[in-house]
Amino acid sequence: MAWVRFKTAVENRRLKVQTPENIFLERVKASANAVGDVFFLSETDLQVLALALQLKMQGYTPLIATDDYSIQNVAKHLGIEFASLATFGIRLPLKWIRYCPACRRKYPADYKSRRCRVCGTELKRKPLRKTLQKIKTQGDGNEFR
Ligand SMILES: [Zn+2]
Repeated sequence: MAWVRFKTAVENRRLKVQTPENIFLERVKASANAVGDVFFLSETDLQVLALALQLKMQGYTPLIATDDYSIQNVAKHLGIEFASLATFGIRLPLKWIRYCPACRRKYPADYKSRRCRVCGTELKRKPLRKTLQKIKTQGDGNEFR
């Protein structure tokens, strides 16, 4: 459903294929590292972010349409706008953590299984705002190594 809407939007505005320059890819990787999302992002995710950063530096206002929390998180860190695919314009909480309500074990937001690998209970999730702010502050100083 969200995909169809996205596809229509792309078709209406005409799709342009572009590859980011390496320098922006490196900056995005450094940023993803700083906010702690680098392990949740694929090479394609990083390229999307790098291209958005490149366009921003060229004076455009890129908007990343994604439901991926890690992409949104890094985009926010880089000052790039993003919107959820299903509900354009609505911002989701920055960072989620999944946890087991039974044994309190914590899992990354993109953990593959829906169940706790220790006790088998179905995982729940909650936003992780305070921790994110902390990571962000610490990360800002060494973003460019
Ligand atoms: Zn558990």
